[in-house]
Amino acid sequence: QAPLNALVVGNWKMNGSLATNATLLEGLRAEAASFANITVSVCPPFPYLAHSASLLAGSAISCTAQNLCHEAAGAYTGEVAASMLAELGCRYVLAGHSERRAMFGDSSERVAAKTRMAFNAGLIPIVCVGETLAQREAGQTEATLSAQLLPSLASLSPAELDKLVLAYEPVWAIGTGHVASAEQISSVLHYLRALVASSTGQADIAQRMPVLYGGSVNPASAQWLAKMPEVSGVLVGGASLNARDFSEICRSF
Ligand code: PEP
Repeated sequence: QAPLNALVVGNWKMNGSLATNATLLEGLRAEAASFANITVSVCPPFPYLAHSASLLAGSAISCTAQNLCHEAAGAYTGEVAASMLAELGCRYVLAGHSERRAMFGDSSERVAAKTRMAFNAGLIPIVCVGETLAQREAGQTEATLSAQLLPSLASLSPAELDKLVLAYEPVWAIGTGHVASAEQISSVLHYLRALVASSTGQADIAQRMPVLYGGSVNPASAQWLAKMPEVSGVLVGGASLNARDFSEICRSF
């Protein structure tokens, strides 16, 4: 795996249009020289991936898909295969975003199948995990994260594990303006790396695995998140729709 540099991913969710995407990406391209030392990727909705990739051609900013199908091809109406995303130039793909888990039936087993499909197609999956407020308050944070992550780890070779990216996104922090505290993030990120190490026997890989934080990240919180040695980067939702805010977040890392 390449030496770790921070990874900042902008999840546009179901937002944008051809016109607004072009303005946003033009803004990011104009700022890109100021965050040359980090890896930056954006997640347009599926229909805009090709258009966004063409607007980003020749820049260091890549596209990430927001989701993928758990099967490789066939009679899955409305779904998008990993190979199609790879063909469109995506570098990463989100698997198990909490909105997919909560609203679209993405079980942890389904997320594991998606993780496998991503690797089979040469994409890097960013597996998202996170507890709800009720789970945190019931003392079930670690049990929840472990149940969400272990199925995805089970089928990976050491070489695949060494490419995997994790994102810790507490559900209660997503879109709420409420960023988890440094202590909460630090504790979970240590737990996740320990879980990867103990379940796979790959302590070195677990130690260098990129683990992102996501949940209401904005330019102000990015400043202290970037100083946390455990945090390998951020997954940004709302603030990634504004070129100035997203660029400022990128520059913090
Ligand atoms: C997300 O959806 O991945 C996310 C972190 O959203 P927001 O930054 O808007 O909380």
